[in-house]
Amino acid sequence: MTTPISTQAAPCFRRTKIIFTLGPATESEAMLETLIRGGADIVRLNMAHAKHDWTRMVIRRIRAVSARVGREIAIMMDIKGPEIRTGDLEVPIELKAGEIFDFTVKPGATRDQSEEVRSVNVNYQDLVNDIKVGDTVLVDNGLIRLEVLTKDHAHIRCRVLIPGELKSKRHINLPGVKVNLPSFTEKDRADSTVGLEEGIDFLALSFVRAAADIALLRAFLAEKKSTVRIIAKIEDQSAITNLDDIIAATDSIMVARGDLGIECPFEELPVIQRRAVQSCIAQGKPVIIATHMLESMTSQPVPTRAEITDVANAVYEQADCVMLSGETTIGKYPVECVQMLDKISRRIEREDAPDLREPAVFATERMKVLHSAVVLANELPRSKLLTFTRHGFMAHGLAALRPVHSPILAFTPHPELLRQLRLLRAVEPYLMPFPSEPDITIENAIETLRRLGHVSPGDKIIIATDIVSQDRLVDAIQLRTIR
Ligand code: PGA
Ligand code: MN
Repeated sequence: MTTPISTQAAPCFRRTKIIFTLGPATESEAMLETLIRGGADIVRLNMAHAKHDWTRMVIRRIRAVSARVGREIAIMMDIKGPEIRTGDLEVPIELKAGEIFDFTVKPGATRDQSEEVRSVNVNYQDLVNDIKVGDTVLVDNGLIRLEVLTKDHAHIRCRVLIPGELKSKRHINLPGVKVNLPSFTEKDRADSTVGLEEGIDFLALSFVRAAADIALLRAFLAEKKSTVRIIAKIEDQSAITNLDDIIAATDSIMVARGDLGIECPFEELPVIQRRAVQSCIAQGKPVIIATHMLESMTSQPVPTRAEITDVANAVYEQADCVMLSGETTIGKYPVECVQMLDKISRRIEREDAPDLREPAVFATERMKVLHSAVVLANELPRSKLLTFTRHGFMAHGLAALRPVHSPILAFTPHPELLRQLRLLRAVEPYLMPFPSEPDITIENAIETLRRLGHVSPGDKIIIATDIVSQDRLVDAIQLRTIR
């Protein structure tokens, strides 16, 4: 079984893919089984909170449960990149409006104590060089806001503008400040190594600032001879400035709205999201919409009307994936959250898809051939695209062209590729060895689909292949009707 099959004669494939983040609420075998059966496509491991022993254990568990259920889901490891955090505090500090407060980058350095100023350590020494007087410091998801008054070699003295309770190890955001931290840190390298050893499918790099950050990660993956695919997390102003170059360099992007909504003026967020989705589609790269999609379901069984509409908006925009974070790590209703995304996506996908700009990826002859297959599919009711892919090019190409109603049934002989194809909008992957005779490969695939009930008599199958014929690769499109 690859997808929950509806009770209708022909199965209804969901085009929008669902990612959930693993945590205490979802790490049990029983939960994993329910979520995999419930149609989750990709599971995310957030390395801000994960220890290596736990990481290895859960990856093996996900693989074991997938094998038992007979549906392989993909694993994304999310590494934290250049993240600035406050240090440990024995007891939380209640910051008051107007209070003077120090961030200390060199613990123990002497400090002007003339007015009894409280302080917390910060894990990044060069912060004193990157930051200027007058800059804004945001702590704990932007809940606490401070303004820089003065600085020396060891301390940044601030005034509290928006008060709040400061707890241990809180994330610091510095809107508009160019931070000189390395984009791929020692911790990222250690986390990724564990991930590669355990066979993850995607590596998501946090706070990507420029295309060069992706090049660094690619070099690391090449050194490890890994075929893991890269997800660039777009979460600050430099990423927005360099968006098109980052999309060109990466395999896919995540619109990480949590940090983005702090680093940029909040009213820019919907504009950035729409632009990012459109640029990704134009460049033929998959795109994920992340964070706060069903935030209120962390503690309640039903979403707000605004959340329903937000999910719908991502589907209307034709993003590849929607993602759950806290909803499934610590939330009370993780299964209901996945069901909710499934339900909203399926409903919105039945609406007319908006016209998309012509993708720039038409540059190649291959894309022109695939485009004619998609045009044909769009014109035929009950059509399904069928393709065979060893490296993912055919499936990626078809998905980038956003067929209006036809699912893309993609056969591959490689389990790793099968899992990576789960990222792509409208792609339904199947595992099958490829016999040397192309015609037999096609026959076997159609037989498999018939057996699963994924095609039924009268369906129009548009086959897009690149077959080897007399030592040459030949692009071909066929139309067959299921009898
Ligand atoms: P995070 O990234 O959950 O790792 O912070 C996503 C976001 O910022 O939206
Ligand atoms: Mn983030």
